Amino acid sequence: ESLEDLLQRLCAVVPDYPEPGVTFRDLTPVFADGAALRQVVDALIEPFAGQFDAVAGVEARGFLLAAAAGYASGTGVITVRKAGKLPRAVYHEEYQLEYGSAALELHRDELPEGSRVLILDDVLATGGTLAAASKLFADARVEVVGYGVVLELVQLHGRAALAGHRVRSLLRLS
Ligand code: IMP
Repeated sequence: ESLEDLLQRLCAVVPDYPEPGVTFRDLTPVFADGAALRQVVDALIEPFAGQFDAVAGVEARGFLLAAAAGYASGTGVITVRKAGKLPRAVYHEEYQLEYGSAALELHRDELPEGSRVLILDDVLATGGTLAAASKLFADARVEVVGYGVVLELVQLHGRAALAGHRVRSLLRLS
């Protein structure tokens, strides 16, 4: 079974969640499967091997991937958190959701200027979340070497929002 087939099989499709008309893709069964988790993490870091000094995860499911990827690659893990969760001085970036807005934060002193980071999350939809994460690292003068996601929802054109950076996605669905 290919990784793509495995992910297709494990990804749960939840109609009308979190609200009517929205189809939610739930990847928690992928995290719960030891073989799948290992293959996912290896596949996400493989194209970027040797090119990053740290792995960043976006709260909350990105943390799971980033922790495993940091361990596998021997680098540290950086947490990009929802606003108000980090205790020290932060960079702050607002972004638009379908309804309303949200904000992400990064500790100001987490990585030295000029270091290189790989950013991971579970799903790429419109790209707003990863674009906001990217701006935090730009503020910190940290280079984003690329993005890794398990699932890319291609009809939302998230890649366009991340232009100029390499995106590794393991399963693409419309
Ligand atoms: P974007 O900012 O529109 O690209 O949305 C991506 C963010 O929303 C990621 O942090 C995902 O965890 C979350 N997300 C969006 N759609 C889904 C979904 O269908 N399943 C799980 N997470 C999703």
